[in-house]
Amino acid sequence: MRVMDLAIIGAGPTGLEAAARAARAGVRTVLFDAGAVAAHVDAWGWVRLFSPFELNAGPAGLALLRGQGVRLPAPDALLTGSEFRERYLLPLAAAVRQRVELREAARVLDVARAARLKGEALGSAARGEQPFRLLVEEDGTERDVLARAVLDCSGTYGRPGWAGPGGAPARGERGTRSEIEYHLPDPLGGQRERYAGRRTLLLGAGHSASTTAIALATLARSVPGTRFTWATRDASDVPLRPIEDDPLPERAELTRRANAVASEPPPGSEWRSEARLLAVEGTAHEGLDVELEIAGTVWRDHFDRIVANVGYEPDDGLYRQLQIHVCYASLGPMGVAAALLAAHGTEPSDCLLAEDALGPETLRNPEPGFFILGAKSFGKNSAFLMRTGYEQVADAFPSLDLPATRTARFRARG
Ligand SMILES: Cc1cc2nc3c(=O)[nH]c(=O)nc-3n(C[C@H](O)[C@H](O)[C@H](O)COP(=O)(O)OP(=O)(O)OC[C@H]3O[C@@H](n4cnc5c(N)ncnc54)[C@H](O)[C@@H]3O)c2cc1C
Repeated sequence: MRVMDLAIIGAGPTGLEAAARAARAGVRTVLFDAGAVAAHVDAWGWVRLFSPFELNAGPAGLALLRGQGVRLPAPDALLTGSEFRERYLLPLAAAVRQRVELREAARVLDVARAARLKGEALGSAARGEQPFRLLVEEDGTERDVLARAVLDCSGTYGRPGWAGPGGAPARGERGTRSEIEYHLPDPLGGQRERYAGRRTLLLGAGHSASTTAIALATLARSVPGTRFTWATRDASDVPLRPIEDDPLPERAELTRRANAVASEPPPGSEWRSEARLLAVEGTAHEGLDVELEIAGTVWRDHFDRIVANVGYEPDDGLYRQLQIHVCYASLGPMGVAAALLAAHGTEPSDCLLAEDALGPETLRNPEPGFFILGAKSFGKNSAFLMRTGYEQVADAFPSLDLPATRTARFRARG
């Protein structure tokens, strides 16, 4: 069977940047996406990015597109996810496709060494003598793909966490999972009918939950009967703690607007802190009965909808048979997790500031030739920005130890 030099899992911003770099280096590469190109960005396409285009485009991607004369957005443009996908990621995929095998609707199910078990040749470079075997599902058929190196850029958006206490399912949540919205809904656009005139329970205190809170508040102010309870876990004055001296004004503005929704909610809506979801039952058709603990008191209530924007997790099942060292707290690769903790502790962080802290060494794992890059490398930590993923791609490439990357040293991050 043919052995590819490189397999990339995920054609999101990070995977496409890696593919652009591979194309430039002449590495024989296959790029898989379980959905369409940039499927995750497409899923939240109506959300406006808080970083300007110049931070969202990678150096290898830009070089490839400029070489083909593609007209790009202005450096300071603040695009929506859909605009970013249409004006940058899709043209990049088309350019990459000329030199890289790009397979959409192809889900990687598992990655292992072709003929070595997880426990063999512990932490040894000898594991690299065997190619990786990827089990890929495509058109309802499973097939094997062999590759010398693998970049896992599969993100986390596809795996939302649970909304119950401690991140485990609340009572009844496993049975009602399909009735709860765990991703970003679009109450002002395509899902207006679902939320207009309804009562919604919103759980979560990150940027996703804040985006949803602002959208629900806007809807509530224009459609009578629309109400929501925004429940967050911590005992704090505001749902979202601002990043000190945030260098991204749009992100600071999102934080300010979300906290304003909490302090002055529309009539009939409320923000409750110190809240935990204990139990849930029912359907989105008939409504959902919930048991909530708020500041130590247990309440029973009824909602038409539940939105749980409580974070996302990496799919570690993909590399269960490899020697991957992950952090017990974030589930991200240990080197990246340790560097983030050293740089920021547990404070709300701005990973733009972590640039110096995240170097090539943080990406290394006991498994030679396997790298976890992009949003997935931050594990459950949501403070990831695309620019960090592009830097990781540049850092990982020289370590791939493929014939083409050995001669062509694309270390420069710019
Ligand atoms: C609402 C929202 C707004 C954000 N705004 C910003 C912002 O303004 N600026 C910024 O820098 N960052 C932002 N981020 C954070 C982050 O940069 C993005 O999530 C970005 O899309 C991450 O890129 P990625 O390529 O690492 O992963 P993803 O974009 O998640 O791409 C992963 C890809 O892998 C595919 N995939 C998953 N599993 C498999 C599998 N088993 N086999 C094959 N393919 C698979 C998916 O279909 C997907 O296309 C935002 C995130 C969200 C959720």
